Amino acid sequence: MMLINTPYRGRFAPSPSGPLHLGSLVAAVGSYLQARAESGQWLVRIEDIDPPREVAGAADRILTSLEAHGLLWDEGVEYQSHNSAHYDHHLNWLAQQRLSYYCDCTRKMIQQAGGHYQGHCRERQLAAPYCALRIRNDQPVEQFTDLLQGNIQSDMNFAGEDFIIRRKDGLYAYHLAVVVDDIRQGINHIVRGVDLLQPTACQMLLYKLFNQPIPQYLHLPVVVTQPGMKLSKQNHAPALNDKQASQNITQVLTWLNHSPPAVLQGAPCQEILHWAVNHWQIERLPKTIEIQT
Ligand code: GLU
Ligand code: ZN
Repeated sequence: MMLINTPYRGRFAPSPSGPLHLGSLVAAVGSYLQARAESGQWLVRIEDIDPPREVAGAADRILTSLEAHGLLWDEGVEYQSHNSAHYDHHLNWLAQQRLSYYCDCTRKMIQQAGGHYQGHCRERQLAAPYCALRIRNDQPVEQFTDLLQGNIQSDMNFAGEDFIIRRKDGLYAYHLAVVVDDIRQGINHIVRGVDLLQPTACQMLLYKLFNQPIPQYLHLPVVVTQPGMKLSKQNHAPALNDKQASQNITQVLTWLNHSPPAVLQGAPCQEILHWAVNHWQIERLPKTIEIQT
């Protein structure tokens, strides 16, 4: 199926595991600018399907920060925690098609078998509760094209795995939730951090199984403080200071090789973003962003 002539719909899909920081602002700004440069829509979806990882108040704080930075979204904000019925519907459909199966393997068993799941439970016909649900991955996505990263060969250890779509604790897996929501919301362009490049193959498999058009992907560089060390909540990237929104936007644009002209120094975010929409070029984007801390 082709996406030509379909109006651009993109999104930013943060997990509320903490406030935004400069690293996550790169993905927010990049997805926003790519959408606006294509005269497209830009949606925001809060990915709150993992309560143990959620930080109270983070979702509201993220939305406040986006607004403070002039990143105004279209339509209402979606919350994955409200979408269980959609996930269940798709899980039921996969089960009916015999495209999923139960698995009771422990992490330890998988570690002992080499660290990647080898389909141990495929034919076991388990039906018990307390099992994870796995996809029957018979047509793995071996390669794909990314608008910035180019041709990607999948790491078959991940792309070929019967990955989990619902966890043993009953929580929906990220791959399932993100694809079900992106399909339902008509998202046809996905711009996000390059840390999600390899998972893309698993997500593309789900699109194929659901018989849906695959979106176009653009994976932005993530900010690293040294090779392999991502700037993230886990390594204590400070929360965005909304009072310095204009400086933050300028910083992110500079990292993305779209440094605004000096006359826009200290200008309101909306003005800087307006300039950036008009000057946005994928060809200018860097493949890596390494900063000194
Ligand atoms: N919620 C995911 C994250 O914050 C991003 C999902 C996506 O953009 O596909 O890492
Ligand atoms: Zn198993």
